Amino acid sequence: TNRFITIKNPVDAAPRESDFETKAEALSLKLEPGSIDIIVKNLYVSIDPYQINRLKSHSSSQSASSFAVRIIPGDTIDASGVARVVASGNPEFEKGDLVVGLLAWGDYTVVKPGGMLRKFDPMGFPLSYQVGILGFSGLTAYAGLFEIGKPKKGEKVFVSAASGSVGHLVGQYAKLFGCYVVGSAGSKEKVTLLKDKLGFDDAFNYKEETDLKAALKRYFPDGIDIYFDNVGAEMQEAAIANMNTYGRVAVCGVISEYTDGKKRAAPEMLDVIYKRIKFQGFLAADHLNLYQDFISTTCNHLRSGAIYPLEDISDGVESIPSAFTGLFQGGNIGKKAIDANGV
Ligand code: NDP
Repeated sequence: TNRFITIKNPVDAAPRESDFETKAEALSLKLEPGSIDIIVKNLYVSIDPYQINRLKSHSSSQSASSFAVRIIPGDTIDASGVARVVASGNPEFEKGDLVVGLLAWGDYTVVKPGGMLRKFDPMGFPLSYQVGILGFSGLTAYAGLFEIGKPKKGEKVFVSAASGSVGHLVGQYAKLFGCYVVGSAGSKEKVTLLKDKLGFDDAFNYKEETDLKAALKRYFPDGIDIYFDNVGAEMQEAAIANMNTYGRVAVCGVISEYTDGKKRAAPEMLDVIYKRIKFQGFLAADHLNLYQDFISTTCNHLRSGAIYPLEDISDGVESIPSAFTGLFQGGNIGKKAIDANGV
């Protein structure tokens, strides 16, 4: 049998574990003669904030992005992940191959023709890195910082959700590049980690600040040059108020708005105009041209010990609902993923 996670109902507010259920289906691990499907055993599956936007009763986005395609109650929920091929009707894959691609939140995935799957070489690194630092989180941090943020040495960078999967890598890439970096995160433990282990110049707990604008003024008396936005809303407003002339805002995500339909950032637009701030959303998937550069730079940093990837891995498909709901309560430190089959 194959267990998979689905939603019982659309999820329009902060997700609760009771919104999810585990279903079991009979799954033969042998393919029908002539089938060109690929059956893979999931090893690590990724748990990502953006998935909440696909679980809502209607998409809040008019975007044609496949990242916005709705998931209907009862459907399997797809996510990026690492797997091993169990059976393949596709001549490009054979039993035993290690693959990354779009999997299901479950024990196994049946990948249909046209599904996203590719073989990879772990290059001596843990397999879980493929969903974190060497996967989409890493590419997001790298592309957002370097392509959208366009840093210069010595510039001042602020990153929110800084202990998260994307955020902790943004801060480390920016430090390695020669920027001054401050991060915000939701607990004392996270703040200590950013400063003492990950080399951030400074960090603060946003939950302890009553005036975010004043807090950022304290941490950036000379202003912010790049804001890497993972959270949106009040933090985005406060960052824009503290940006320097020709500052750049790389809008990666707005997690604080995902679970609250009424929450929106309303930055002072005259600041944006007079300070000529460049404000750009981006999707990591649009920056695959950077992939080789991103992988070779990141592998070098990993081998020299210059970058430290944080992972937060829970065991078993049954832990997916709590892992996912935890993202919206700051439950994770670094990349949240599931070890689906006791790797
Ligand atoms: P994280 O590992 O950062 O997990 C989410 C974290 O966000 C939590 O740990 C929590 O940390 C913080 N958070 C949750 N709710 C709030 C809130 N209301 N206000 C402030 N912080 C909150 O996830 P990812 O690194 O995977 O994703 C980070 C962001 O990047 C998300 O917005 C996501 O949608 C976006 N993203 C965008 C991509 C793109 O291509 N554009 C690709 C991948 C991710 P804390 O304790 O600090 O509150």
